[in-house]
Amino acid sequence: MRRDDRGVTPQSEDFSAWYNELVTKAQLVERGPAKGTMVIRPYGYRLWELLQAELDRRIKDTGHENAYFPLLIPESYLEREAQHVEGFSPELAVVTHAGGKELDEPLIVRPTSETIVGEMMSRWISSHRDLPLLLNQWSNVVRWELRPRMFLRTTEFLWQEGHTAHADEAGAMAETMLALDLYTEVARDVAALPVVPGEKTPGERFAGAERTFTIEGMMRDGKALQAGTSHYMGTNFADAFQIQYTSQAGRLERCHTTSWGMTTRMIGAIVMTHGDDKGLVLPPRLAPYQVVIVTIGRGEEVRAAARELADRLRAAGVRAHVDEREHLSPGYRFHDWELRGAPVRLELGPRDLESGTAVMALRLGEEGKRPIPLESADKILPGVLDGFQAYLLRRATEFREARTRAADTWQEFTGAVAAGWAAATHCGSAACEDDIKAETAATPRCVPLDGPPGSGACVRCGQPAAYGRRVLFGRAY
Ligand SMILES: [Zn+2]
Repeated sequence: MRRDDRGVTPQSEDFSAWYNELVTKAQLVERGPAKGTMVIRPYGYRLWELLQAELDRRIKDTGHENAYFPLLIPESYLEREAQHVEGFSPELAVVTHAGGKELDEPLIVRPTSETIVGEMMSRWISSHRDLPLLLNQWSNVVRWELRPRMFLRTTEFLWQEGHTAHADEAGAMAETMLALDLYTEVARDVAALPVVPGEKTPGERFAGAERTFTIEGMMRDGKALQAGTSHYMGTNFADAFQIQYTSQAGRLERCHTTSWGMTTRMIGAIVMTHGDDKGLVLPPRLAPYQVVIVTIGRGEEVRAAARELADRLRAAGVRAHVDEREHLSPGYRFHDWELRGAPVRLELGPRDLESGTAVMALRLGEEGKRPIPLESADKILPGVLDGFQAYLLRRATEFREARTRAADTWQEFTGAVAAGWAAATHCGSAACEDDIKAETAATPRCVPLDGPPGSGACVRCGQPAAYGRRVLFGRAY
């Protein structure tokens, strides 16, 4: 079959080509002129806004306040935390000239904001009464990217970064886990991504963190995508920036800090978890248009009925859109909304209007189309959308479970990571992780929080297993 210009390469033929073509053709994103940058188009940006609203509400409900810190940070700030500067140096964009002159001190374009936030925290915190300090910012960051991929790895991306300071380790660890829970919940309940929350192994930790936690999702090619991270910094940044307070007993103490982030990468995760050969499949809770009404024929009567229906759906809380592009054939428009992943399509023509119905087609409509009464469409569709949302989560969960295998031998391990994830015992050594990566391209994704216990020997080198649990390994984006 000849592929026309609106179609995409099938997933089974070339998953990577499928993704690259789809994010462009579905009008989510366009490559920017500077290397690795992206223009997020209105359809993609609406998706981000809907996700952002859900996450922002939860962040505020748990007592955090939004603030904004500058894009430009003095280079000396980054140098104060040794691991942090080492980890980020290769990715930094540095401003050396401005206003026609060379600057006395170069400025870095923020790759993340721990240092500038740390400096401000040291000014704002003096007593135990100032703690905990719970901040969040919505911003862009720049990390120079040599092999860019839209949404997944771009030189500039959007995110939120939470930054908090606490009196002790217990408070900061509780916060680290709270942020991880927020991410798990948003991914599962809003984006229908059945992510696995867990801890990163030491080799995969954030630069400057004592402990790093992650949520990992499985994409439809079996690869893993890290979709959000939460870090316990210990007193590393408090030591570097003198974030300290006077305790109740009158002693000067160092704060324990955290940071946590979720990014526009989530859009890539949604595309690769739910999409198929026809295009995007958007979870209703994030779909810019949950219901698209496609008018058929050129009658004013049909157009008026479609608009009236859309208004009633909007009043019922449904994001409805009327496609009146009557210069294009209905078939072309059906195909277009499949490509763009609208969960529900309603077809409305003169004959449907006469019988008081519209023809409903779900984006994953194996059971086929069916007529629904126009009169009660606003009562029916919210339930249909909820059902579709639940179906996506169920399908993705089943997919992940089917492709995750316990591996007790090296042979089982290589088989498991070729198709998906392996749950295996590991010694915890970085050199052994490197061996595994060199041979299979798989890396430790996380030690799942509620994964099965695991002891015995490392699946690779035979040394005693660490962590007391099986570690999830997979190839990753
Ligand atoms: Zn080992």
